[in-house]
Amino acid sequence: MDDFHCVGASRRFTLALAVVTLGLLGPASIGHALAEAPLAGFQPPGFFRMMLGDIEVTALYDGAATLDAAKMLDEPAQDTEAALKASFLRNPLATSDNAFLINTGARLVLIDTGGGSFFGPKLGKLQANLRAAGYGPEQVDDILLTHMHRDHIGGLVADGRAAFPNAIVHADKREADYWLSADNLEDAPADQKPRFQGAMAALAPYIVAGRFRTFTADSDVVPMVRAVPAYGHSAGHTMYVVESKGQSLWLVGDLVNVGAVQLAHPKISSGFDGDRAAAVATRERILGEAAHQEVLVGAAHLPFPGLGHVSGIDAARRWMPIDYSGAVN
Ligand SMILES: [Zn+2]
Repeated sequence: MDDFHCVGASRRFTLALAVVTLGLLGPASIGHALAEAPLAGFQPPGFFRMMLGDIEVTALYDGAATLDAAKMLDEPAQDTEAALKASFLRNPLATSDNAFLINTGARLVLIDTGGGSFFGPKLGKLQANLRAAGYGPEQVDDILLTHMHRDHIGGLVADGRAAFPNAIVHADKREADYWLSADNLEDAPADQKPRFQGAMAALAPYIVAGRFRTFTADSDVVPMVRAVPAYGHSAGHTMYVVESKGQSLWLVGDLVNVGAVQLAHPKISSGFDGDRAAAVATRERILGEAAHQEVLVGAAHLPFPGLGHVSGIDAARRWMPIDYSGAVN
C-alpha cells in the first residue's frame, strides 16, 4: 500500500467517525433518508425452477384461493381449526393453486392450467408467471390434465379462445366421459351444473380444433411422462410420473387438498372428493408409496411451489418442502 492510499484510508476513517458521531446525536441530525424507502409491496414472479436429471421442471403459481377448510373436510370443524392452528395457519385457508411445466428437451409439457377466470379473482396468474419464467403459451406442446375441476382447467381458455394456441390437451378417458357428458350435465343438480359447463367451455376450442386426446390408465402420454390412475378425487383423476436419470417426480394433482390435515390423516376427505371412499384409498396408497420410495412430489394445492417429499408414516407423516436454491441444479 503506498502513501496515497494511506491518506485515502485515513480520510475515510475520519468521515466514518463523523457519521457515527452524527448518528449518536439522533436521527434528526442526519435526516430520515435511510428510513424512508417506500414499501416495495410486490412479490417476485411466481415460478420456481429445478432440474430432475435432464428435465427442467418449473412450478407455476396461479394464485391462492381462500377456502373454508372447516366446512370442506369430513371432520368436526373444531378439529380442523385446531390442526390449522398447530400449523400456524388460519381458516379461511389461503390455498395455493400450482401447475407444473416440464421441458423434456423435446417437448414443453404443462400439467394443469390453473383457474383462469373460472375460480374467482384470486386465481388466473399462470399466464403472467409462465411468461416471467421465460416461455410463451404458444410454445407449450402438450397440456396434461390431472382432472377437470375448474381450478385446473380454467386457464385453458381466455375470452373463449384457446389460451395455448398450439397445444394438444390430454386427459384420462374416464374424466372426459364424466365431465363432458351432456347426460351428466342434465342430471346434475343446479348447483353442480356450472362444474360441467366449465369443463365443456374450457375444452371446447381444443375439441373443435382436433387438439383434444384421451388416454386410458397407465400410459406414456408423452415420452418421459407417464399417466398413472389416482381415481377418487374425480372419476379419472390422474397422477403423472416424470423420470430422468434415475430420479422421479410424482405430480399428484389433488391427492391432498389441505396438507395440514390430510397428510397425517388421509382418511379425512374433502367435499371436493367425488368418490370419498376411493379418494381415501388412493390418498393412503400413494402417500405411503411416495414416502417409502422417497420420490419428489409435486402437488397442486400444497404451499407454492408445492414440491417436496413425504416423510414418516401414518399420523407422523409430514410434508418436507424442497429448499430454495438460486441455482437451477
Ligand atoms: Zn384442485
